[in-house]
Amino acid sequence: MKHNFNSGPAVLPREVYEEASRAILDFNNTGLSILEIGHRTNLFQPIMDEAVALMKELMGLDADHEVLFLHGGASTQFFQVPMNLLDEGRTAAYTDTGVWGAKAIKEAKLYGNVDVVCSSKEATYTYIPKDFTVQPDSVYLHITSNNTIYGTQWHNFEPVFRAGVPAIADMSSDILSRPMDFNRFDLIYAGAQKNIGAAGVNVVIVNKNILGKVQRKLPTMMDYRVHIENGSMLNTPPVFAIYICMLTLRWLKAKGGVAAIEKENIAKADLFYNTLDSLPEVFKGTVAKEDRSLMNACFVMQDKGREEAFAALCQQEGFVGVKGHRTVGGFRVSMYNALPYESVVALTDAMKHFANNT
Ligand code: PMP
Repeated sequence: MKHNFNSGPAVLPREVYEEASRAILDFNNTGLSILEIGHRTNLFQPIMDEAVALMKELMGLDADHEVLFLHGGASTQFFQVPMNLLDEGRTAAYTDTGVWGAKAIKEAKLYGNVDVVCSSKEATYTYIPKDFTVQPDSVYLHITSNNTIYGTQWHNFEPVFRAGVPAIADMSSDILSRPMDFNRFDLIYAGAQKNIGAAGVNVVIVNKNILGKVQRKLPTMMDYRVHIENGSMLNTPPVFAIYICMLTLRWLKAKGGVAAIEKENIAKADLFYNTLDSLPEVFKGTVAKEDRSLMNACFVMQDKGREEAFAALCQQEGFVGVKGHRTVGGFRVSMYNALPYESVVALTDAMKHFANNT
């Protein structure tokens, strides 16, 4: 038995694997595989429509917010966002809270001025800065709501909304994991491969009122407005990845949506962090407690010399993906929506056993 703590692509619900397996062989008794149906057919259109409707419903979006399923991963959004919103000579505000935020900053600089309003880089990104000033004429403020590599998460967005400029968030690693005031963000983007579904598609939620204001000419495939007009079907969409998203969103809705999943995510994270903190002679969390992520927990061992033994134990017990990102070292445990509580029980039992017996 494997317990999958991968950071993404990550574990999805068992029911999704089962239904998708059936659909690969025979989609809805059509005699066709989901992999061979045309995207502009009455077989795929309902899948796209349901995926969009479920995103809107689960996030409680208002009529101004459009949902797009696009290609290119969240990394494409690092430049597609400024390309669509930031004119040359104008300034966008960015928070520097990790590797992904830093990459977004680098790409934005290709299009306009970037004001890095805060950074925790000097402390190896171990906390979320809360005190920063955004110039009122900034075109937007960009944050990374959950820093996948470092294991920090914004738990309070007031400093973001208080800035009074359009708020933009990379929510790749915590979208749909907890209720948020999604409508107060003017643009949200996320790679699907953690909480939404399969790799190969990213979701963009955009307030259509902020679009169409830049002076530059946009390549058609990069223009959000064109994708809205074409219902995310300007060209061939990643059909199978969107199908997996739709199934995963159905699963989330059946569970009771983001409020219900948040309770489970808190229970998992509490169990993990409480165990970690109860074994201080062996393990040490790497980030400020108040900013700890419910999705990605990073830790090291007090005695670095014991890391190999713990890694070997993880391998033996079937704990997959617990190695920390190469830039941080140590260990990282990802606990996305579909990770069963039992996996955290198994891991924390093993941590206790390791601490007490080796
Ligand atoms: N942003 C965040 C917060 C991420 O965690 C990741 C990838 N794990 C990315 C962006 C990049 O996503 P992609 O690989 O889909 O481009």
